[in-house]
Amino acid sequence: MYWEKDIETMDRRELDSYQLNKLNETLQLAGRSPYYRSLSRREELNFKEIKSIEEIKELPFTTKKNLQDGFPYDFLAVDLKDVVRLHSSSGTTGNPTVVYHTKEDIETWENLIARCMYMTGVREDDIFQNMMGYGLFTGGIGFHYGAEKLGVLTIPIGPGNSARQIWFLRKFKTSVIHILPSYALRLYSFFNEMEINPRKDLNLKIAFIGAESHSEEIRRKIEDLYGIKAYNSYGLSEMCGPGVAFECPCQKGMHVWEDHFYMEIINPDTGKVLPEGEEGELVLTTFKRRAMPLIRYRTGDLTRIIPGTCDCGRTHRRIDRIKGRTDDMLIINGVNIFPIQIEMILMRIPEIGHNYLIEIRKENYMDRLYIKVELNEEVFIGTLFELEKLQVRITDDLKSELGVTPVVKLVEPSSLPVSEGKAKRVYDLRNN
Ligand SMILES: [Zn+2]
Repeated sequence: MYWEKDIETMDRRELDSYQLNKLNETLQLAGRSPYYRSLSRREELNFKEIKSIEEIKELPFTTKKNLQDGFPYDFLAVDLKDVVRLHSSSGTTGNPTVVYHTKEDIETWENLIARCMYMTGVREDDIFQNMMGYGLFTGGIGFHYGAEKLGVLTIPIGPGNSARQIWFLRKFKTSVIHILPSYALRLYSFFNEMEINPRKDLNLKIAFIGAESHSEEIRRKIEDLYGIKAYNSYGLSEMCGPGVAFECPCQKGMHVWEDHFYMEIINPDTGKVLPEGEEGELVLTTFKRRAMPLIRYRTGDLTRIIPGTCDCGRTHRRIDRIKGRTDDMLIINGVNIFPIQIEMILMRIPEIGHNYLIEIRKENYMDRLYIKVELNEEVFIGTLFELEKLQVRITDDLKSELGVTPVVKLVEPSSLPVSEGKAKRVYDLRNN
């Protein structure tokens, strides 16, 4: 049983004092790592006991750059002999971000994922096909261990190879999948080609979608195409991996597991903590990580805390879907735009297919936003007049949301490039 009622519905005041204890534990533990020890030597961090959780605001932030500079072992708070695994991000510049786990960390993590999956209704008799990447990336392995812990038959198929995915889905009557949202849409076009209707011909009931920021519209589309419930999952390798926050059956935001993490939302420019409901950067402190405790880690992910309590009865607060990363924001002729705003508009238009691409170019010293949009099969064979009308409508919708007039190009279904891993849909060509 992975419904931890006492913890998940803990009285708020009780949860606060639980967190205070855990925070003091984390501070003591972090003090064993060379990085945090050096902060305390420079008097930037004080390891004295904290009396109120509010005092966390006075502690310094930890950033991705700190982790990179501390490569390879500066954040390790235990002896190397107690470490059983590492995960690492594929850093394109500088050192990779490496995260270490003790045996206890792995167990804590798998229990956390089991809790998430159980919450959405996954049980021992389910068949789970894990279409996420395995390896240094935490998405695949995290769910794998959690599902096994729950006692679910787990198929470690990994991403890609759509024909094989579909064969497994059918032969083993898979009921639960873990999939990138962009891949869920792409896989659907394979079903179409093979004239299989996932709603009728499969046994699917639940999908976990995460690792890419995506709009509510994309989630609804996936639910509709497959006839399933799709739950949003949030995590990052620095905290453990997936399992940091997860949607309950109410699907109104993701519960952050506050017995494991302390969350704050800050203004990314000033570092000031923002009140509930306001959008900013998510900052997390670990409570149960042993190998590598982190204090006030700046995730770079933009979201907000959803005010109020959830109908499911859980007291752990919820965050909204991730709007993007602080570094995803595009500034087009002085106007701030997040790619997810564009996706939200596009996916509301039924004539649009499953893929789109955003390009920003510099023309005559001005920024120009190009959006290529795949049409769906039926619309593509429409008349030229109809297509022109549709193009105008899409442009108008985008203009009123973004405050910038894009150049919209309608393209054939399945004609835009797709990537094996996370979707790359934004190409900023201004510096080329
Ligand atoms: Zn809930």
